[in-house]
Amino acid sequence: MFKTNYHNHSKWSDGKYNPEKTVLRAIELGFDIIGFSDHSPVPFKSEWNMKYENLLKYISDINNLKEKYNEQIKIYLGLEADFINGISYIKNFKHLGLDYTIGGAHYLPETFEDGTIFNIDNTDEIFQRGLSELYNNDIKFLVERYYNAVNQMIEEDSPDVIAHLDLIEKFNKNHKYFDSKAQWYQKIVDNCLKTIQKTNCIVELNSRSLYKGLLDDFSPKITILQKMLNLKIPVTISGDVHNPEEMELFWKKSIENLKFAGYKEMMLFDQNKWQIQKID
Ligand SMILES: [Zn+2]
Ligand SMILES: [Zn+2]
Repeated sequence: MFKTNYHNHSKWSDGKYNPEKTVLRAIELGFDIIGFSDHSPVPFKSEWNMKYENLLKYISDINNLKEKYNEQIKIYLGLEADFINGISYIKNFKHLGLDYTIGGAHYLPETFEDGTIFNIDNTDEIFQRGLSELYNNDIKFLVERYYNAVNQMIEEDSPDVIAHLDLIEKFNKNHKYFDSKAQWYQKIVDNCLKTIQKTNCIVELNSRSLYKGLLDDFSPKITILQKMLNLKIPVTISGDVHNPEEMELFWKKSIENLKFAGYKEMMLFDQNKWQIQKID
């Protein structure tokens, strides 16, 4: 079985170091294939997205590493691209010769009074402020807005991989904002999974919030993962690595979790296509 991680960030967006450091750590840890997926540029001020002027430099940096290390590890070029309806689309980056795209709805197209766009993936404080100032404390409405964005991304913007599917739960530890077992929430999730099932999209099992201690489960949660299996939705493992030291934190646990959910295979990107590999 190939050891893979297609979700790596570097200093080209909000990662800590240059990508070569991650490559070297991945080789040390016995990874067979890795991919870089720095955050795509967005048309507004952002601390974590890549700057437009760096996009081509990022691409040539990763392509050079592909060549330099091709005897030791396979490296692929991706982007974690933002779908923000009316503002940012994944398809805008597809002409760049990327090997794959990871699509995420980190931002919702609502803006605060000072013009800042609402980022649900930032801090609990910002999440809380958004909920109160933009959604009148109506958590159901906010959850619906999030999954509507995800559904629209899947149907209209066709990412290869869907990032952290239940990101709306990032600050929902101990059901702080809502009961994720509630029927209304499960109905919204079911609807999203049906949308995914009609496409070729792969869902990643993102481990970042788990190894950072923010949540006690992966994203998506085990309940969603089991529903995905019933619908035969393909998965891949994702470390969402921002620092090479995180490279070793997720692999074993992620495999165990996939097996626990009942998955017997997962997706592998190699030689220009996504393909199935058995989990062992
Ligand atoms: Zn993300
Ligand atoms: Zn990421």
